[in-house]
Amino acid sequence: MTYKSGRHFLQIPGPSNVPDRILRAMDRPTIDHRGPEFAELGKSVLSGIKQIFKTDNPVVIYPASGTGAWEAALVNTLCSGDRVLMYETGQFATLWHGMTKKLGLEAEFIAGDWRHGVDAGAIGRRLAEDSAHEIKAVCVVHHETSTGVTSDIASVRRAIDAAGHPALLLVDTISGLGSVDFRTDEWGVDVAITCSQKGLMMPPGLSFNAISPKALEASRRATLPRSYWGWDEMLQHNANGYFPYSPATNLLYGLKEAIAMLLEEGLDNVFARHARFSEATRRAVRAWGLEVLSLVPSEHSNVLTTVLVPEGHSADGLRQVILDNFDMSLGTGLNKLQDRAFRIGHLGDFNDLSLLGTLAGVEMGLAIAGVPHSKGGVQAAIDYLAETAPQTQSRD
Ligand code: PLP
Repeated sequence: MTYKSGRHFLQIPGPSNVPDRILRAMDRPTIDHRGPEFAELGKSVLSGIKQIFKTDNPVVIYPASGTGAWEAALVNTLCSGDRVLMYETGQFATLWHGMTKKLGLEAEFIAGDWRHGVDAGAIGRRLAEDSAHEIKAVCVVHHETSTGVTSDIASVRRAIDAAGHPALLLVDTISGLGSVDFRTDEWGVDVAITCSQKGLMMPPGLSFNAISPKALEASRRATLPRSYWGWDEMLQHNANGYFPYSPATNLLYGLKEAIAMLLEEGLDNVFARHARFSEATRRAVRAWGLEVLSLVPSEHSNVLTTVLVPEGHSADGLRQVILDNFDMSLGTGLNKLQDRAFRIGHLGDFNDLSLLGTLAGVEMGLAIAGVPHSKGGVQAAIDYLAETAPQTQSRD
């Protein structure tokens, strides 16, 4: 491969760009994971991450990708043959549903059109019918990365409560946490699931379960086989800052830095920054005359924008043109969106100019690939960013 000057633009919706501060934080010798220095690190990240989840309850950290944390949430709380209720928001909900079948659970999957979030009313109606309380858990994706649609988790909690149903609420906020507001305790989420490579701005390799007292109680009765994923041993060791097996020490150095960066900026500022970039992106897409997949404005993702390409044109061809010409990776359309849509990631370590560079790459790529569009998307984004620029102190 020949040398390409300048930084690669990694504008897929996770893994997101890893900031230099986090890279530097991880670039240190691995230490004894049974020694006192590690315990300090362990305690610091185990307590710091609670602030990001907005929970007072324990959070466990696995050396695994997000898929592992999905599995951990299920095997710790459920028994073979248990019924669970899921909602088809897109490809990641579909994959999680596939996992429940492999684990021997009976999953009901409410069909969705991949352009809307979870219909809390449909969840509530199904639970109200379940007078025998056979459904043991409701499993939903907060932020569907395949479509760019956010679901209202507080409304799912209200629907469960209104039905007077005792099901646990398990929520995948893998691409939401650290970019859009997520309130584990306030929304009554029993297991919140995330991983490191999205809003936490880290490489893949860490995943998380935030565990409510009700979920912990369920784990004492749950009989699905588990060993590596077991919360009990993990929590025993975590009490002193340790792990039952070799932790991903260097990723934990990175996590400590990531938590510090998010808290330094302030979570509300982080969320506002993501909201501003997503609106600027949608303005660009509309100016190009292209269609955003997400249909309901209040559900539009602040993390990524999925853009439909016109009939007869190839989204993957466009992505290839942009990669070849501008060294920028965009997200591919997944499953039924394959070649019909591309995804622009605007999350994590990202500022006005990274967004404008990204949108410029897309606009130039549309022209080279011959995808019909109007010019002016980048200008529309510039105008919006200029109107909404946060007040900054002059540096002189
Ligand atoms: N859930 C969502 C919403 C995701 O976006 C992803 C990955 O992108 C996953 C689950 C799976 O996570 P991983 O690929 O880290 O196993």
